[in-house]
Amino acid sequence: MCIFCKIAKKEEKAYVVYESDNVIAFLDINPLSKGHTLVIPKEHYENLLEVPSDLAKDLHEAIKAVCEKLKVFNPAGFNIVSNIGKQAGQVIMHAHIHVIPRYEDEETRP
Ligand code: 5GP
Ligand code: ZN
Repeated sequence: MCIFCKIAKKEEKAYVVYESDNVIAFLDINPLSKGHTLVIPKEHYENLLEVPSDLAKDLHEAIKAVCEKLKVFNPAGFNIVSNIGKQAGQVIMHAHIHVIPRYEDEETRP
C-alpha cells in the first residue's frame, strides 16, 4: 500500500487539515511555505487525470475548504498544483493536489 493510502487509512501519521467521506487533506512533511497542504482522494488513483469527475468535484470542495482554513495565516494568494508523471516532478504515485499559501514577503515562483 502506498504512503498516502496509509495516511488516508490513519495507518500513518499526518496533520489532518480537512476530511470528508472521499477526501483527506494534510500538511506536507516538507513544506514549501507555511501551511503547504496536500489534498488527496482516499481511494488510490495514480494521478489527477485518473480521478473520476464526480470525485474531482469532492477534491475541489476540499481545496476551497482548505484555502478557507489557511486564511488564518493571512496568505496573499495560493498556488494550486498537481504534478503528473515523474518528469513533471511527481514522486508519490497517489493523486494529490498541492495547496501552497503564498505570502507578501516571499518569492512567488513555485
Ligand atoms: P509530488 O512531488 O509527488 O507532487 O509531491 C509529493 C509531496 O508529498 C512532497 O511535497 C513531499 O514533501 C510530500 N510527502 C512525501 N511523503 C510524505 C509523508 O509521508 N507525509 C506527508 N505529510 N507528506 C509527504
Ligand atoms: Zn495510494
